[in-house]
Amino acid sequence: MSAEVIYGKQLAEDLRQEMKEEVSALHTKDIRPKLVVVILGEDPASMSYVKGKQRASEKIGMDSELIELPVETSEQELLDLIEKLNQDATVHGILVQLPVPDHISDQKIIEAIHPDKDVDGFHPANVGKMMTGQDTFFPCTPYGILVMLKRAEITLEGKHVVIIGRSNLVGKPVGQLLLNENATVTHCHSRTKQLQSHTKQADILIVAAGKPSLISGEDIKEGAVVIDVGVNRVDGKLTGDVDFESAKEVASHITPVPKGVGPMTITMLLHNTIKAAKRIHNQ
Ligand code: NAP
Repeated sequence: MSAEVIYGKQLAEDLRQEMKEEVSALHTKDIRPKLVVVILGEDPASMSYVKGKQRASEKIGMDSELIELPVETSEQELLDLIEKLNQDATVHGILVQLPVPDHISDQKIIEAIHPDKDVDGFHPANVGKMMTGQDTFFPCTPYGILVMLKRAEITLEGKHVVIIGRSNLVGKPVGQLLLNENATVTHCHSRTKQLQSHTKQADILIVAAGKPSLISGEDIKEGAVVIDVGVNRVDGKLTGDVDFESAKEVASHITPVPKGVGPMTITMLLHNTIKAAKRIHNQ
């Protein structure tokens, strides 16, 4: 068997086209969704993510602003800026590129962003809503995975989903979103014993460990759906956590790296910002 490849890139383009039309319709009602991205320092990888977010916003006609602050900005200065953005009625989504430098608490920053403008979905109030099955802003990568699975018409109810990873960014929230869809969810992590005995049971295997080629064809049940979240650079080349060539011979569906989960993350950020604008304007 050779798996059907789920290209997040294509789906992301289709969704962004729909969003472009939605933004344009909101403009006719004088609603201009706006995302503000704040970055501290000049880390090239973070800067490239941030520029990608800004370009994607502009491409769908959404207002966006990039605030670049020096790395020595104090925690209080950053908190003051966030408060100003919280109060600014023209701003609908606020994103501070994480991690922030060591002298600033990530958690304090996450909690300072008003939950109604928390388009990353990291604020404890929004995490709590997600856990209790309420509508809210869902974290972008997990949400992107959920949308990919749904658009590929993969049944989730009753399926055994095995997730490698339990980070607050990916592993835990994707597990929660799939539990909310009535899947049976198992989380594996670095202390899990006999990883393969778990992965072999998965109807849907989601790999978010950040370890190149952690999973290969022999770890996968015949016909499983494999979602590779990993982004690793090996010998200058971008690669996932799954050995694509061997896995695709066993899986029924598989996402590639690049062009898989990655493009969906920014797309869901745009979705969340439009949603924030609509909610703030009672649309
Ligand atoms: P993270 O915070 O480092 O978490 C990695 C998780 O994997 C941890 O729970 C860790 O277990 C587990 N793990 C690590 N090695 C393992 C092993 N050998 N066996 C089993 N479990 C193992 O990383 P993250 O932020 O969740 O990101 C995961 C990957 O996804 C990274 O490659 C990242 O670059 C990528 N990512 C991609 C996107 C995208 O848009 N495509 C977005 C976010 C992240 P412990 O908890 O026990 O340490």
